[in-house]
Amino acid sequence: MNNPVLKLSGIEKVYNRGKPGEVKVLNGVDLSLNRGEVVALLAPSGAGKSTLLHIAGLLDTPDAGEVEIAGQPMQGRSDRKRTITRRAQLGFVYQFHHLLPEFTALENIVLPQLANGTARDAAEARARALLESVGVGDRASHRPAAMSGGEQQRVAFCRAMANAPGLLLADEPTGNLDPETSDRVFAALMKLVRETGLSALIATHNLELAGKMDRQLHLHNGSIRED
Ligand code: ADP
Repeated sequence: MNNPVLKLSGIEKVYNRGKPGEVKVLNGVDLSLNRGEVVALLAPSGAGKSTLLHIAGLLDTPDAGEVEIAGQPMQGRSDRKRTITRRAQLGFVYQFHHLLPEFTALENIVLPQLANGTARDAAEARARALLESVGVGDRASHRPAAMSGGEQQRVAFCRAMANAPGLLLADEPTGNLDPETSDRVFAALMKLVRETGLSALIATHNLELAGKMDRQLHLHNGSIRED
């Protein structure tokens, strides 16, 4: 019951192994996130933050080390099982919203729920409640192109939360926004995370935003240091 939501042990990742362009990106990363914790991942560009988030999010596999999600080891799982775990337990937010352009804000949050087996009525009710909670309830029928950058990103947060995941992984979620919008959108994200008791690993360059999280981890020379 008290298993960490995410546990990484001895994670290593090398690109182009044995070739002239070999890059050893992760060199024994250990990290553990408890339920309800919101943790900042700070790293200079190119340090391997996206690689680490992709491995934690089961979108990539490490060359060595172990990934556990809610106490379950992920090694040796089939692609199908990894996809099921990802869909049910993990939420993703990127720097760019990646919403589906031909669907409305509401539909973008409904679709992942339908894929996870939720009935349409319940999925729509949840989508509306999520949009309300981040202050864009009145944008439900807008397509992404008809929303501002900050609104698009709020919708992307709601989509990440659509299936009530245990863990949110975010890669510079407000990195594309101007500083003032970034602060407001980040506050909306934190409100949503705190209200749902979600755990989150949030990569950011912004020390001020990082300071509002429970812990700050630094990725440096392929391993993690905590403040
Ligand atoms: P960050 O997100 O911290 O900017 P990344 O995880 O994207 O860093 O990349 C870390 C390093 O690994 C960079 O030097 C990058 O060029 C390299 N890298 C990332 N993906 C690949 C890949 N598919 N093949 C080769 N090198 C890669």
